Amino acid sequence: MIKKSLYQEVILDHNKNPRNYGALDNANRSAEGHNPLCGDHLHIKINLSEDLVISSISFQGESCAICKASASMMTTNVKGKTKADTETMIKEFRDMAIGNLDPDDSQYLGRLSVFVGIRDLPTRVKCAILPWHTLQAALNSITTISTEADDDPMHISIDNTE
Ligand code: ZN
Repeated sequence: MIKKSLYQEVILDHNKNPRNYGALDNANRSAEGHNPLCGDHLHIKINLSEDLVISSISFQGESCAICKASASMMTTNVKGKTKADTETMIKEFRDMAIGNLDPDDSQYLGRLSVFVGIRDLPTRVKCAILPWHTLQAALNSITTISTEADDDPMHISIDNTE
């Protein structure tokens, strides 16, 4: 029950006051993500430094509360992280959302573990994961992804941290 109310509180807060929402002037990588099942549509822009650190990040778009809250929390958690650490975090978030990872066993999830309940809401899993897949695409210079396309990043190997 505590986890559920914290989850609702976090979603409401980030939905109402999304962090890092808007344009990003110095972006050097970006990607666009669609989740046609819900209508979520996001743009993620990042500045990836020469030593592969995410120095800045922003998101924009139209999405449901879960997607927006997930995107907002994601931006606050990956800013300042290396590409390799971010890719581990993306993998952990995805594995948690689909029920394959207990957040207690994660290296990076921390407060993001409020999303653990999403694994019991199969129709919302893609809403929560969309921002992460869009970021994964941006990190790898893939410009457009869709949760329903053949190249759905669910199938992109994100174990390659090169
Ligand atoms: Zn959604």
